[in-house]
Amino acid sequence: MLENAEKKIRTILDFPKEGIAFKDITPLLQDGQAYREVIDALAKKFASEQIDYVVAIESRGYLLGAPLAYKLGAGLVLVRKPGKLPAAVERVEYELEYGTDALEIHKDAIEKGKRVIIIDDLLATGGTVKAASELVTRLGGKIVSLAFMIELKFLHGREKLSTIAPVYSLFDY
Ligand code: AMP
Repeated sequence: MLENAEKKIRTILDFPKEGIAFKDITPLLQDGQAYREVIDALAKKFASEQIDYVVAIESRGYLLGAPLAYKLGAGLVLVRKPGKLPAAVERVEYELEYGTDALEIHKDAIEKGKRVIIIDDLLATGGTVKAASELVTRLGGKIVSLAFMIELKFLHGREKLSTIAPVYSLFDY
């Protein structure tokens, strides 16, 4: 059933820079049936997990996180790039290939012990979701799963995340 959705993911070579094979999910999002199937599959996976919050990572994570939260009857929590969230934040810096980047979450976004899934469109090295996990853990949230539409298996990001929570992805490359 999900094969049709998977076919809608296209690979753009050398974007945003040379050597990167970019997974472009816009054709999938444009296809109403495919988009719905992806959200339904994610919702089915977590339906019985009593999820309190879906934590979505800026910006493509929002495209999955928002409809997933709606389907699960869970709250949506935003992890954002620095300087975007207006109230008091927790902030984490993490390593990129060159230099560092940072993510923020509102300090009052998650109450202690609440059940959380963290979602992004794609798992590559795992650095981004590991940083988001650090934010959720600082607030006292219990991370039930790290979920992705796409996993780039050959980068072994999953191994970096094994101590945090189970990793779930719909499509592997
Ligand atoms: P990482 O922190 O290495 O796991 O990178 C994950 C983040 O970078 C996600 O938010 C992805 O959207 C983005 N990303 C990394 N590699 C790719 C790729 N090949 N195609 C599309 N997005 C990517």
